[in-house]
Amino acid sequence: MIDAGNPGTVGMGRIRDHWRHWVSSRRQRASLAGSLLDGFPGVAMLVDADGVILCVNPGFERYSGHPSYTMLGRRVTCLDVDPLHGDIARALAHSVTRRGAWRGGLTCRRADGQVTHQQGVFQPLETRPGEPLRLLITLQDITVLHRSAVDDHDRLTALQGTVDRLPGVVFQLRQSARGDLEFRYLSAGLQALAGLPSREAVKSAETLLGRLHEDDRQRLDTTLAQSAVSLAPWSLEFRLSLGDEVRWIEGRATPRRQRDGDTRWDGVLLDITARKDEEQRTQKLVRTDMLTGVLNRRAFFDYGEAVRALAARHGRAVPLAMLDIDHFKQLNDTHGHAAGDLALQAFATACRDCLRPYDLFARIGGEEFAVMLVDTSPEEARGVLDRLRAAVQALELDVQGERLRVTVSLGLAVIPPQGSLDFALSQADAALYRAKREGRNRLVSAPGYPEPHEHVR
Ligand code: GH3
Ligand code: MG
Ligand code: MG
Repeated sequence: MIDAGNPGTVGMGRIRDHWRHWVSSRRQRASLAGSLLDGFPGVAMLVDADGVILCVNPGFERYSGHPSYTMLGRRVTCLDVDPLHGDIARALAHSVTRRGAWRGGLTCRRADGQVTHQQGVFQPLETRPGEPLRLLITLQDITVLHRSAVDDHDRLTALQGTVDRLPGVVFQLRQSARGDLEFRYLSAGLQALAGLPSREAVKSAETLLGRLHEDDRQRLDTTLAQSAVSLAPWSLEFRLSLGDEVRWIEGRATPRRQRDGDTRWDGVLLDITARKDEEQRTQKLVRTDMLTGVLNRRAFFDYGEAVRALAARHGRAVPLAMLDIDHFKQLNDTHGHAAGDLALQAFATACRDCLRPYDLFARIGGEEFAVMLVDTSPEEARGVLDRLRAAVQALELDVQGERLRVTVSLGLAVIPPQGSLDFALSQADAALYRAKREGRNRLVSAPGYPEPHEHVR
């Protein structure tokens, strides 16, 4: 095993003697150990307590990148990128002072200057009393592994940076077979999105989920359950409370079923508050009459249908009225269209003030309006609408220094629990026509309206 082929190496005679002695005294064991070291796919060497290399295995030159003859008799620390303070010096000191094995990674340099990464073992060999300490050092080249580990680490770090800089949150949510929810991962964007460090929500999902609006929390549970059963993609728009502020969040994720029955969703959360605000503004514009600010015809039919359906489910009738301003053409002709517009605005405000916020009040034509009274009995409706008629009558409009007054005629009908909105409206319209014919500024109920008197003034 010894490389004795270089006569120029300093101290070769002394080293050869050491080696012969060591080999001969342990010939039995050495024959097996020697053949093991001969075939060892790395560097194996015997060093003394100062780290002087006494002998090396045949693979030394190939695996260390140094010709064996240049290293025999030199300190093993010469292999280190930092011969004075490198890891080999530390490993040697550790192994010698503790008389124990040392294992770990080392950074070495080949003769051509190339840096390699080695997995090293420093093993003190058993000695008899009086015998000098020897160490068996083995090095295995792990440069390729090390490089790919470093590359992986660099790639992961870069990916993590990208994920953390994304405008939103990347997450993995796990639901156990028992239904418990746990975030296995949440990117750093959670701080900006929900004012919460991601590690806290990873520790306890409730710190984040507890901030969901009550109704949305229920929808979250329902939609997750559906997604877990069908394995269809999950998506939900929900509100998060951040103190006084409410944010709209959109979540989208793809589910996977695990072997143990868990379901995992990989997904993203995005802040859609600005989009929602814009949508709400647009919705409001689409549903609002520009002149008076009350609901328009289309909104009246949409919301009216929803109110009717809800009342029908509870077996309730819904009172409904049509309103038409009296002699409005005359007001326009006398005072001008602009005065007419002001009158329409004042009229709408006065009517709205007589109703509750959830009653529907809409401009459905030029100077025609409609009212739908929510959760109101037919008798109560008569009272409310007559007060409204009186409030309009009492209204004084100031148009360019002139005082104007308007009156309104109303036709009242009711949508029975199984009735239709359109039919009730046509009945209210017919009653309105009668109110006009009978002298205006009055409330007339449609035939069959459940109340004793036909006219109220
Ligand atoms: P009646 O008592 O029978 O209802 O008489 P009227 O004059 O109100 O009759 P009618 O309903 O036929 O007239 C409605 C008028 O409302 C006609 C139109 O010039 C006017 N009008 C409709 N829309 C507007 C509007 O947006 N602004 C103004 N200033 N006038 C409008
Ligand atoms: Mg009209
Ligand atoms: Mg009119």
